Amino acid sequence: MPLPTTSRYDLDRGAFAALLVTEPSYRLDQLWQGLYRDLAEPSDITTLPKSVRSRIDEIPTSLSPVAESVSDGGDTVKWLWDLADGARIETVLMHYTDRSTVCISTQAGCAMACGFCATGQAGFERNLSTGEIVEQVVRAARRARPRRVSNVVFMGMGEPLANFDRTWEATERLHHDVGMSARHLTISTVGVVPGIRRLADAALPVNLAVSLHAANDALRDELVPINRRYPLAMLVDACLDYFAAKGRRISFEWAMIDGVNDRPSDAAELAAVARRCRAHVNLIPLNPTPGYPTVGSPRAHVREFCDRLGELGANATIRGTRGTDIDAACGQLRAGHEISVDAPTRRRPSPDR
Ligand code: SF4
Repeated sequence: MPLPTTSRYDLDRGAFAALLVTEPSYRLDQLWQGLYRDLAEPSDITTLPKSVRSRIDEIPTSLSPVAESVSDGGDTVKWLWDLADGARIETVLMHYTDRSTVCISTQAGCAMACGFCATGQAGFERNLSTGEIVEQVVRAARRARPRRVSNVVFMGMGEPLANFDRTWEATERLHHDVGMSARHLTISTVGVVPGIRRLADAALPVNLAVSLHAANDALRDELVPINRRYPLAMLVDACLDYFAAKGRRISFEWAMIDGVNDRPSDAAELAAVARRCRAHVNLIPLNPTPGYPTVGSPRAHVREFCDRLGELGANATIRGTRGTDIDAACGQLRAGHEISVDAPTRRRPSPDR
């Protein structure tokens, strides 16, 4: 599907150079610095003459706010944005004591159809442009002031590696132009192996987060359908090669689903694969999703599961849930506005398989 009209953050330096061709060459640096280092609106880039500011101001941006929700005493802000063609995406800003992190979307909807995910159940609309990805960070970083956004995680709506080229262009823009360390940029994937291999060959050593959720093919085929195309053995090989190429510890994301992937046998399988890949495991207590029957593991059970992983020699922590009261899990804010999903659930069948 074609992308909508080019926005201000879709233009690269060459495009702006063409726009400023009658200006002294240093104007381009002033503009670029204003847009990306200072994250300013063109009208506030006072190093530029007024005539240039107003010309740049006329180039549209991509994101129009539909809803903004604040929770956790102001530490979590979530936006639902309308794009120029009416597609909707979401962005979350999270403040912690030692950092501020923005979680961004790379696609409107998602084609990966993970069974427990509101976005996956709603289907795929289109890839986001580079500008639509970058602008989410710009808007959140402005809102974060006087704090500075230090980390970006590509873990919002969509599968980043299914929109590889634009995800990577956005990553480079955030690193080279906004000035963020590659070590503070995390790209997630549900297991798109060719994308992991392209990442391993790319120049910047970004963090890789793999949404694993199951450590045997039968269960992973069910929870994460892309596993049928890239089964666990292929995924683990790609992770090992990524670690060898970048020296960056991989994280395995594991949404804790009651009675589905929280059994002792799941802990044993997960610990084995995490040890092999020297990966860190993030256990994610599931937020309740409106109209969606999948049930997260009880809190005490998440703790037990985490302890068990530790006993088995795996490095694991429980991710703090953010914004449960504002629908901060994947796809949920958008779901609350426009969709109701219905999917099968499985209850705890027995403590062991
Ligand atoms: S969990 Fe991620 S990859 Fe899976 S359907 Fe949801 S957005 Fe897509």
